[in-house]
Amino acid sequence: MTNRRRTGIACIMCKNTIELPEYVGQDYDGDLLCGMCGSLLHIKLDKSEVKQYKVLRDRYEEWKKEERLKSLQETAAKLRRK
Ligand SMILES: [Zn+2]
Repeated sequence: MTNRRRTGIACIMCKNTIELPEYVGQDYDGDLLCGMCGSLLHIKLDKSEVKQYKVLRDRYEEWKKEERLKSLQETAAKLRRK
């Protein structure tokens, strides 16, 4: 018997691989939160195959803004140290 349990699913927004929690088995119908960009997804798995994929809350733009801000702050901090 092969273990066909899916261990991860790609976030459609930021392309990060979201690791599926323990409670997500081969059949799952529920929400999933991307730990990278914070977007909320709804997925439906049937025998580990993705049957449905919806974005419930899109945080990608916000996340990108935050990342940009972070890198700007890092650059500013570096300049200040000189
Ligand atoms: Zn994401």
